[in-house]
Amino acid sequence: MENKYCCRLATAIGQDRLLCETSNFFVIPTLGSMGIEGYLLIIPKEHHHAMGMIPENHLPELNNLISDVKKIIKSVYGLPTLLFEHGPRVGNLDSGQSVDHAHLHIVPGIDITENWAVDLMMRLGDVGQFYRVERVEGLERGADMIRKGTSYLYVENTSGIRLLSEQNFHRPSQYFRTMVASKIGSSVWDWRQHPDYNTLEKTVGKLKEKF
Ligand SMILES: [Zn+2]
Repeated sequence: MENKYCCRLATAIGQDRLLCETSNFFVIPTLGSMGIEGYLLIIPKEHHHAMGMIPENHLPELNNLISDVKKIIKSVYGLPTLLFEHGPRVGNLDSGQSVDHAHLHIVPGIDITENWAVDLMMRLGDVGQFYRVERVEGLERGADMIRKGTSYLYVENTSGIRLLSEQNFHRPSQYFRTMVASKIGSSVWDWRQHPDYNTLEKTVGKLKEKF
């Protein structure tokens, strides 16, 4: 627990939000749930800027944890899960994340694949801008992107298809969260302005004993 308070995100773990802890990861409900019960974050204990930067020997543990979380969401809410990560800030190319401590979003029952596909194309505002989407095994591919000096966006959709994109243009803050909000007809995607303690408590109440 020596890295518990490495940054602002990590301090949240010291509160009542902790649902589960493995050797190298925490699971907590997000503060910015937009009313979506069961919206969780998986966070490495060590301070890394992206899931693609966590040590390779932690990946089996992460994949097991993801699999457990998905089973729990399915059993409690009867829903498949959407997973996503806004990759790290690289140079001036934000990939949409709003916190520099790696975190993987887990959202029950909402799929944004089509919204994302359309948004990427519509975002090509200048000649020379590009994106490339690849179907991948998992987050491991994110590490290659980081080694190349670029960032990435990662989605595992509710059908279990894992997609990673590379792009050379700016994405807005909390990029995928704006798409989740749009899917549910919500405008409260900015967790800083709309912390949802009510839903957080409900999620903790329902899931705390399941891990
Ligand atoms: Zn940190």
